[in-house]
Amino acid sequence: MSSPTAPTNSTSSVPCPHFPPCPGVQDADREAARVKAHHPDQGWRLLCNGVVLFEDTGELLPDGKVIAPHRPIPTPGPPRHATSS
Ligand SMILES: [Zn+2]
Repeated sequence: MSSPTAPTNSTSSVPCPHFPPCPGVQDADREAARVKAHHPDQGWRLLCNGVVLFEDTGELLPDGKVIAPHRPIPTPGPPRHATSS
């Protein structure tokens, strides 16, 4: 069917419905965006800005760019070797 839709200058950036708006992909705090889909069984979550955030803090940007894990993974359990000074 021929339906002339409104011109959408879509550059793969979906407008954020939240207010205040979530940080964009290019922002340093893009991980602070709202979670759209959470898959704890698979170890990743999809943020509002299109960023896929993995459990190990690795990221996959909407344009296919991969960000290496950049935060130390919190080790569960008590510290096994504590040095008391
Ligand atoms: Zn949002």
